[in-house]
Amino acid sequence: MIVEEKILSALERLHTVTRSSLQKAGQQQGLSPLHARILHRLQSGPQTISALALAFRISKPTVSDSVAVLLERKFVKKYADEKDGRSHKIGLTAAGEKQALLLSAYAAPFLQSVGQMDDLQKQALWAALLNLLKIMQGQGLIPHDRMCSTCNHFQETGDGGFCRLMQVPLAIADLRIDCPEHERAA
Ligand code: SF4
Repeated sequence: MIVEEKILSALERLHTVTRSSLQKAGQQQGLSPLHARILHRLQSGPQTISALALAFRISKPTVSDSVAVLLERKFVKKYADEKDGRSHKIGLTAAGEKQALLLSAYAAPFLQSVGQMDDLQKQALWAALLNLLKIMQGQGLIPHDRMCSTCNHFQETGDGGFCRLMQVPLAIADLRIDCPEHERAA
């Protein structure tokens, strides 16, 4: 097996473990896998149905159906989209925040495992993953999705970048992949 295949196999293994842990945490709270993924994702801020569909690579009607159930259960609510008056975003209610917090316990074993790596290993892994995401975005394999590298406010500096919106330098460890302030670069 060549190294590229081994990396893919390792990423698939991690994905399977984390996805099934989230699914299990959702089941314990009476949530479908998609409900759990939506609540978990909304922890980083309100998003449109389109953005959720793009992130999960599923159809908008499928997301809308799940959101309708979450609205009914009062875990989410609709917000006006300040950038587009005709559109709206979906965000967590206080009850939804509570559910999402309970769900996030699924990640604890994974975070503990990553925590056992030394700082240099963690930084190298983060930098390599960012680079892989950037390459795959360039190939159209991953949506242009809330990452600094595809943001209109981002200025690359070689050793990280600068956020023109918040006027702060961003070291590689500070770069985001799910920023609520992201504005897609033209
Ligand atoms: S707004 Fe967010 S995504 Fe854009 S550069 Fe700043 S931190 Fe990165």
